[in-house]
Amino acid sequence: MPACPDSEVRHSRPVTASRRTWLLAALAGAGLPRWAMAQSPAPELWPRHEAVPGGVARLDLGPAGMPPAAWADDAPLLVVGDVIAWTALVGIPLAARPGEARIRVRQAEGERELPYPIAPKRYTEQHLKVSPRTVDLSPEDLARHERERTHQQQVIATFSAPPAGELRMRAPTAGRRSSSFGLRRFFNGQPRNPHSGMDIAAATGTPVVAPLPASVIDVGDYFFNGRTVWLDHGGGLLSMMCHLSRIDVRQGDRLAAGERLGAVGATGRVTGPHLHWTVSLNRASVDPALFLDS
Ligand SMILES: [Zn+2]
Repeated sequence: MPACPDSEVRHSRPVTASRRTWLLAALAGAGLPRWAMAQSPAPELWPRHEAVPGGVARLDLGPAGMPPAAWADDAPLLVVGDVIAWTALVGIPLAARPGEARIRVRQAEGERELPYPIAPKRYTEQHLKVSPRTVDLSPEDLARHERERTHQQQVIATFSAPPAGELRMRAPTAGRRSSSFGLRRFFNGQPRNPHSGMDIAAATGTPVVAPLPASVIDVGDYFFNGRTVWLDHGGGLLSMMCHLSRIDVRQGDRLAAGERLGAVGATGRVTGPHLHWTVSLNRASVDPALFLDS
């Protein structure tokens, strides 16, 4: 029976643990292969649902024997859950316009579009005074920045096997967490891109750890971001740690959650030592706070 598109917008509602166990047992009894029984962690261990620019939407894809494939524009999406209820975790870009958005879902029956609403969120303005050299770039600095931006776009498109464990993260360093994500920034009066991560104030040398199990996919010293480590948590979920004073890992290293990767510093364009932490999901920078317990 055809349904009106709005009725397809269902946020993942919890299936009780006992009912889930019963359903999975029933499916096992029906002779379903073992791969179909694969389970992601419970929804309490996923990022919180906040369908706003810079947020994460949890979109219910319904039951299916195999995980559906899904995309937002051309970016593949992280799909979690099990045969009873698959869920797409969709990173919403800060630049997204409030209103109806769509993802593309491919299942055995074919491909469909799934609309969902993005609610407005107004982020506050931040005015900063910085060295004129970092606002009015020299031709050499500009060329360097453009090379680095192209490189970063390649890194951010990384999509590996989805994470098997929980998706709630631990804070990557001990320090005061600012609510600076999404601030609309002005450097010396000139408008710039919104702030795409969380700043955590800590002294130079404070250890920085992996917020989830990860592969190190990029290590570098960049014009704006300073010494930087990119982590791949799987399924298009990445962390970027910037302004480090030192880096203790190399590309290709595997890290457990909580394992040290470097130390807080003040490299790149900064006003003082802190960790800048970006969380990227399907190539969109989203609020890291949605992945933290408090
Ligand atoms: Zn920052």
